[in-house]
Order: sequence, then C-alpha cells, then structure tokens
Amino acid sequence: MARHFDGKKLVIASHNQGKVREIGELLAPFGVETISAGELGLPEPVEDGSTFIANAEIKAHAAAMASGLPALSDDSGLEVAGLDGDPGIFSARWCGPDKDFTVGMRMINEKLGDTPERGANFTCALTLAWPDGHMESFEGRVFGTVTWPMRGTRGFGYDPIFIPDGFTRTFAEMDPADKHAMSHRADAFRQLIDACFRA
Ligand code: IMP
Repeated sequence: MARHFDGKKLVIASHNQGKVREIGELLAPFGVETISAGELGLPEPVEDGSTFIANAEIKAHAAAMASGLPALSDDSGLEVAGLDGDPGIFSARWCGPDKDFTVGMRMINEKLGDTPERGANFTCALTLAWPDGHMESFEGRVFGTVTWPMRGTRGFGYDPIFIPDGFTRTFAEMDPADKHAMSHRADAFRQLIDACFRA
C-alpha cells in the first residue's frame, strides 16, 4: 500500500518551466500548494541513473532532503523506435547546453532519415519523495508517431513532432487540456493520484 500525501505544500523537483507548469495544472484540483526547486534555489542533482524511474528518484530525493518538504519529480523523454529508443533518458541532453528543443528535434529527423518506422512514445516517471527517505514511483506512456516538419507552438520540448495515436495534430497543436487528458504525464499522474492523493 502506497504512502498517502497528507501535507499542504509540495516541492516540484524540476527546473524545467514547461514541466513545472504542467504539474501545477495537474495538481490544481487537489488543493496542493506547489513551489518549484528553481524558486527555492535548490541545486540540480546529477541525473546518472540508467532508467527514467532511477533519475526521477534521484531528483525527488535530493529536493526532499534539501527542502525538508515532500517533493515530486518528473523524469521523462521521447523514445523513438527507429532509433532503438533514443533519445530516451537523454532527451534533455540532445537539446544541447542551451536546451534548445529545435536542436533535438532536428537531430531526430536527421538520424531517422527516410526510415519508414516512425513509431515513438513519450514516457514519464513520477516520484514522490518524503524527507524521511520514503519514495513512491509511477510510470506512464503515450504512443504515437514522429512527424516532420515541426508543427504547433503550444506545449514544450518535442511536442511539435509527436502525433499521438488516433489523432492528426501534434501535441504542440492541441489544446493543453487535450494533451493533459492523454499524455504520458497524465497516465503517470492518474496512478500517483489514485495511490497517494485520493482518500
Ligand atoms: P528531463 O527533465 O531530464 O526529464 O528531460 C525530459 C525531456 O524530455 C524534456 O526536456 C523534453 O525534451 C522531453 N519531454 C518530456 N516530456 C515532454 C512532453 O510532454 N512534451 C515534449 N517533450 C517532453
């Protein structure tokens, strides 16, 4: 049985503004007050895990220890079937030191070339960590295809090249509410909410 979150304040263990915004929106219905690791000036730990969950646990644990508050982290990325799952856990790194997402998207397109295999999925690992060291982790996925050129200006990261299965628009062309209803983050969130937030 997972540990229940019964506090009021939660640290979002991320310096990525797109993620902080989406997590804040997903948690809004639960009356939880959130503050980001960036706002608290917490250092970014080295993400040297070999899985999404391992990296999510590194980030949540570090933020809970440094802040003395429960902390929620998100480690996520795009896995492209035709690239053997790359960029995967290296999704942020493919965007270079300036975190320019167009760099990562161009790299995917170049490496794919004219490969007919366009399948891809986003994966999201969420970890809720408490200052006593306890952690709960969940993983969600959404499947789709990679398209080129980039389309849309909403969302963040690789959204302009990802079309979820059953749709024709990219995540970056969709209303954010529609993305939230089906995304990898929404899938992981449903599991987190059911296990740790519902009475
Ligand atoms: P992390 O902060 O190390 O977990 O890096 C995750 C990276 O994966 C982000 O910087 C984005 O490039 C990508 N990513 C994760 N979730 C999404 C999403 O919902 N849309 C688009 N890109 C995403």
